[in-house]
Amino acid sequence: MNVGVLALQGDFREHLLALGDCGVTGNLVKSAAEISQIDALIIPGGESTTISKLAKAFDLFDLISKRIADGMPTYGSCAGMILVAKSILDPASQQETFGGIDMQVRRNAFGRQTESFEVDLDFKVISGAPFRGVFIRAPWVESCDKGVEVLASLEVAGVKHPVAVRQAHVLATSFHPELTGDNRVHRYFLEEVCKK
Ligand code: GLN
Repeated sequence: MNVGVLALQGDFREHLLALGDCGVTGNLVKSAAEISQIDALIIPGGESTTISKLAKAFDLFDLISKRIADGMPTYGSCAGMILVAKSILDPASQQETFGGIDMQVRRNAFGRQTESFEVDLDFKVISGAPFRGVFIRAPWVESCDKGVEVLASLEVAGVKHPVAVRQAHVLATSFHPELTGDNRVHRYFLEEVCKK
């Protein structure tokens, strides 16, 4: 299986290392030819506005959207979660998303960069110890359709917000497993989402 990591901006190298930990040699992709050849895609954390602008500028936007819509297994972390959302609450001017999960996300939902934090999460499909969530200017899921499975949530001021979700072949997390050295989310993506 050829797993691509979108390498336009953000922490794509860390995702490549996490794939390596799982015994998979991923490939950094940033051209239409490369994206046409992959079987699965990881969209890294970073800045979703920049990633979407670069995808437009390099003429990759429609290709990525179409491949996801056609069933290519895809995992987005943080900025990547924003990019696979159907819509964004208060999007930066003209920010578009690839789509993939019928949800609306709120960008920077937990506050600014300096309000970044780590917390242990109950991650429904991952057994063993709680998963350490690293949240850096992270989004949360504001609302989602019935077809979206919530895998982990975080309670803020008495309200539970989904922070890990899956819809069919698309997985998204608000947080950054690629920064933790714990590869269980990547394994779940490779072993369950990609092999559905
Ligand atoms: N706040 C960023 C955005 O809107 C995401 C931050 C991240 O990926 N760590 O794209």
